[in-house]
Amino acid sequence: MLDLFSIFSKGGIVLWCFQSTSDIFSPSVNALIRSVILQERSGNNSFNHNALTLQYKLDNEFELVFVVAYQRILQLSYVDKFLNDVHLEFRDKYKNELRGGRHIIDFDFKTAFDKILRECESWAKSQAKIPKQMRTFEDSLKSKKTVASMIERKGEEKSKKSVKIVENKALTNGKVEESPEMEDDVIAANRAKLANKLAKKGQKEVKKSPGAKSPKAERVKQPRVWALGGDTRDLRSLDFSDDKDADRGDLDISPDTHLVGQMAGAIRDLEVESDESSSEDDEPSAPQQKKSLGVFSIFKGLVGSKALTEEAMRPALDKLRDHLIAKNVAADIANKLCDSVAAKLEGKVLGTFDSVAKTVKATLTESLMLLLSPKRRVDILRDAMHAKEQGRPYVVVFCGVNGVGKSTNLAKICFWLVENGLSVLVAACDTFRAGAVEQLRTHVRRLNALHPGAVRLYEKGYGKDAAGIAAEAVRAAADARADVVLVDTAGRMQDNEPLMRALAKLIKVNAPDLVLFVGEALVGNEAVDQLVKFNQALADHSSSADPHVVDGIVLTKFDTIDDKVGAAVSMTYITGQPIVFVGTGQTYTDLKALNANAVVHALMK
Ligand code: GDP
Repeated sequence: MLDLFSIFSKGGIVLWCFQSTSDIFSPSVNALIRSVILQERSGNNSFNHNALTLQYKLDNEFELVFVVAYQRILQLSYVDKFLNDVHLEFRDKYKNELRGGRHIIDFDFKTAFDKILRECESWAKSQAKIPKQMRTFEDSLKSKKTVASMIERKGEEKSKKSVKIVENKALTNGKVEESPEMEDDVIAANRAKLANKLAKKGQKEVKKSPGAKSPKAERVKQPRVWALGGDTRDLRSLDFSDDKDADRGDLDISPDTHLVGQMAGAIRDLEVESDESSSEDDEPSAPQQKKSLGVFSIFKGLVGSKALTEEAMRPALDKLRDHLIAKNVAADIANKLCDSVAAKLEGKVLGTFDSVAKTVKATLTESLMLLLSPKRRVDILRDAMHAKEQGRPYVVVFCGVNGVGKSTNLAKICFWLVENGLSVLVAACDTFRAGAVEQLRTHVRRLNALHPGAVRLYEKGYGKDAAGIAAEAVRAAADARADVVLVDTAGRMQDNEPLMRALAKLIKVNAPDLVLFVGEALVGNEAVDQLVKFNQALADHSSSADPHVVDGIVLTKFDTIDDKVGAAVSMTYITGQPIVFVGTGQTYTDLKALNANAVVHALMK
């Protein structure tokens, strides 16, 4: 029934192997190592590759991996037990050799292996005869929260209890279905929070100015007084048709010249707040230690002289999972991270609290660092230079839903490119939303006020085919020898099929170098849902064998989420796409690169 059982060291030496067929299994085992073990995605101990299922167990003390492979169509109920039993038997039998680091000896394990296999098979048969028990709540689907159910509710309490209620709601499949209106409510509520935040900032400034109305004074709408007789001044001011008036938004342009020069070079990393946790490393005195423990106090109970077992760690890991969920990490990801920590800790002896805290922090940090480090680097400056050498412009398409900060962040990226000596053409391909072209025009004027002549706008008004305008813009950029084309597209909901099809067409026709998805950190896991659906829709509607989907993420409004940075973790985990830029405010310099350290720091607070 089993095709393969292999025991190898993390360094790659095969200690013992059993194979029941003459098939070649190395591609599947290599895929497991590459995509799961090296990626720290070892929470779930099962991995499918082609027609095979591979299950594995890690031994952290001796740095070993135990892998079993069998045909995916088989339902083998004993594999977990079997892996466990083989693991324990092998450790016990060869502990002296393993302790001595001797990996290249003749491990005569076949007899023991066959015996355990027989025992497990008969155990599985006896289990099959026992009448089925009802599933416990923990085993049920209800206890496993999905990304969608992570969306925060208005006025939601952060307590564990309320988290459970949300989980239940999301998973009762039809009983308490989440309507799109509810999701809209959440987004609206979050936006209102942001508006409040910004308003507070504004109020502070208003208070300073003498004569400003008290914020408490009731605001009453004043009736408009229309001019009587031949006075046409009001009428003229209402005529927006002439070109000068169309640029009204630009009248107040006063270039923030102090910004010039600030964005030269690579995008700077998000700053890590001053890290009090360093005191943990310095063997703090008792009262200090209490103050700086934070989430690590969960692990107090793990101090001891015995090797850690899964059972002993479980309560602490459950608490860690809740902590991550409270930081907006989707539950399935929080589970996987905790299991990955468990897999790394199991079998270790942690004598002091300090060593427990250090190990947990190091393990989780390491896992998150790997998770957040993109598999693929997106280096726009280098790639744009490369395109320039080839005599063509480098084309970037921005997509996302309305209001997430697409044009603002496009302008920030434009500023950064210009600061690095590149000339940019902005293509106004949002031919849908009234005001979108004017908004970009304002940005282009502001940018040119800072760097004269560096940015051009390509616009053709509204209602036209966006894919065609983008193609013309790219041609215009090539003629004008512009280095980069930034294509703004219409905001669209991920479920709007005609608009998604239009976006897929724009991408197919223009074959951009980079497709960036712009999502708000503010709406947390809603952004994950958007990204997943955008990717899916781009693949579905592209009518190409090798569709161009999203290459990277711009995560905006990061300045408004305090330490609830879980969405960043979820987005990278679920899609494997790198977060290329993080928007941290409303000025051109508020653009940063994601720094895994900063995210880990916020998560562990
Ligand atoms: P679009 O409809 O996606 O093009 O969105 P806009 O670019 O018009 O941005 C919508 C609002 O979000 C504007 O008020 C922006 O100033 C604001 N905004 C964009 N990015 C950020 C950011 O990183 N932080 C904050 N606080 N606000 C942002």
